[in-house]
Amino acid sequence: MEYSKLVELYEQLNKTTKRLEKTHIISEFLKDVGVDDIEHVMLLLEGRVFPNYDSREIGVASRLMLKSLSVATGIGVDKIENEWKRQGDLGLVAETLVKTKKQATLHSTKLTVKKVFDNIRKLAELEGEGTVERKTQLIAELLTSAKPVESKYIVKTILGEMRIGVGGGAMRDAITWAFFGSKIGIKYTKEENDIQVEDREVYNKYLDAVQSAYDVTNEFALVAKAAKSKGLEGLENIGMKVGVPIKVMLALKVDAIEEAFETVGKPAAIEFKYDGFRIQGHKDEKGDIKLFTRRLEDVTKQFPDVVEFVKKNVKGKSFIIDSEAVGYDKKTGKYLPFQNISQRIKRKYDIDKISHDFPVELNVFDIIYYEGKNLINEEFEKRRKLLEKIIKQETKKIVLSKSKKVSEKKDVEKFFKEAVDSGNEGLMFKALNAPYKPGARVGYMIKFKSMMETLDLVIVGAEWGEGKRSKWLSSYTIACLDENNDFVGIGKASTGLKEKEEEGLSFVEMTRLLKPLIISEKGKEVRIKPKIVIEVGYDEIQKSPTYESGFALRFPRIEKLRDDKGTDEASTLDYVKKLYNGQKKS
Ligand code: AMP
Repeated sequence: MEYSKLVELYEQLNKTTKRLEKTHIISEFLKDVGVDDIEHVMLLLEGRVFPNYDSREIGVASRLMLKSLSVATGIGVDKIENEWKRQGDLGLVAETLVKTKKQATLHSTKLTVKKVFDNIRKLAELEGEGTVERKTQLIAELLTSAKPVESKYIVKTILGEMRIGVGGGAMRDAITWAFFGSKIGIKYTKEENDIQVEDREVYNKYLDAVQSAYDVTNEFALVAKAAKSKGLEGLENIGMKVGVPIKVMLALKVDAIEEAFETVGKPAAIEFKYDGFRIQGHKDEKGDIKLFTRRLEDVTKQFPDVVEFVKKNVKGKSFIIDSEAVGYDKKTGKYLPFQNISQRIKRKYDIDKISHDFPVELNVFDIIYYEGKNLINEEFEKRRKLLEKIIKQETKKIVLSKSKKVSEKKDVEKFFKEAVDSGNEGLMFKALNAPYKPGARVGYMIKFKSMMETLDLVIVGAEWGEGKRSKWLSSYTIACLDENNDFVGIGKASTGLKEKEEEGLSFVEMTRLLKPLIISEKGKEVRIKPKIVIEVGYDEIQKSPTYESGFALRFPRIEKLRDDKGTDEASTLDYVKKLYNGQKKS
């Protein structure tokens, strides 16, 4: 394919800011790209020549570009630099210079997408003596054959300054429309900037297939190629490749143990939630190890220690494991918070020293590929069993995440305490029968970071309800005890009580308890003699001028009636302050 075609596409995309229109323009373009060109086109479209996860860089700075422009056009570096100052963009400078030059020479061979792609890639591969000259030549070669507008985009691509304003979502849609548009029956109308599809369900099926293929490959270039050459089947069979990172599965958050069980089911696996950073470890058939972060950056070079553990302690010719690297204190062996080791992730020099000073332990919690087999559709429990078989645990090097199978709240509470006491953030809940869903936050994995201490509060006020609730007291004003043993308000709560008596502590029952305690009534508002103590959960304690205590509970939930407690045993304001301060630290 001629490079000029791709340049035309860039120009078209630059003319609009509308996402749907951009998507449509790309999808129309993709229909006409041949299988051999599609990977190059997709990468260049995103302004790259290497896949996302590839840490190689083109490595051409503005200085080198000035020199190359000079070689290509025969114009002095000083003059080009002045022009750069005037226009502020080397891409535009290239366009102007090449235009002047072309009028003089009228010589041109047609550039292909492949030629541009190959030359730019070669730039990254050059090393050693004479590199600058060879790089200059490679760039100049492209620029002497380029049309003015082509030179603008070549320069921008090489300098990493391509911005076409098309995000991942639009790329996914464009691929879907291009290769499955006729099956979906999709129509774009420019005037209204709108799309219509015949059948949403079919549309979603194709969209999901494209998205899933992207989740395991992380490269639209590969997804587009599979869709173009093999259609839906191509997407479904797109292989996981060791050495190519896969989007990690994400966790949902819950605040209550019951809620976690509701989502993942019983029994569930619970694990320590380590305060480190995620590492996806790959080993290929040749024995090469690669490590990626949660954002899929290659950090193999930064963690020679982890490479070593993975190599030595995990049995198998090829695999992909999911884990958390946690820093620990060299002297005491105690886990350290993430901040203490975060510097290791970006570090480029003195790697051995920093590995020694800030050691990490790898806590492995999942496996998604083993000996040529993709395991994402296997049940979690099976994946975990496999891990147990293949990992030779060595404390402070590589271990399995601490895990337990539980069904009872009290077991969770105990494990939570153990986790926090040994310096961890909390717990993760995992659904035993769940697959591994790359890139998704679907509730197969749930984080439970704080077991907010509940408060025992006294009801000092309430409101008569409205409509069918007019016979019920609700919206209870809840109070704690201040240093003078006075009740000071800290919020209003209703959530947690049931509408029907048979479901648990209900509004009816609460009204029955409170009615004899009414001191005074004003409109719907009722003052209540302090007698009833309830246990209240919440998301957070906030400062607030609304209540006498100076604090308010965010999302208060009535957990239960504490009829075993007298009002003198209610939580104190001092305790509330302590919890509030503790919250700020975490
Ligand atoms: P968060 O970063 O708060 O969304 O919590 C999810 C993160 O917890 C994951 O991305 C992992 O990096 C980390 N994590 C720590 N321990 C575990 C574990 N046992 N299982 C899964 N993820 C864990």
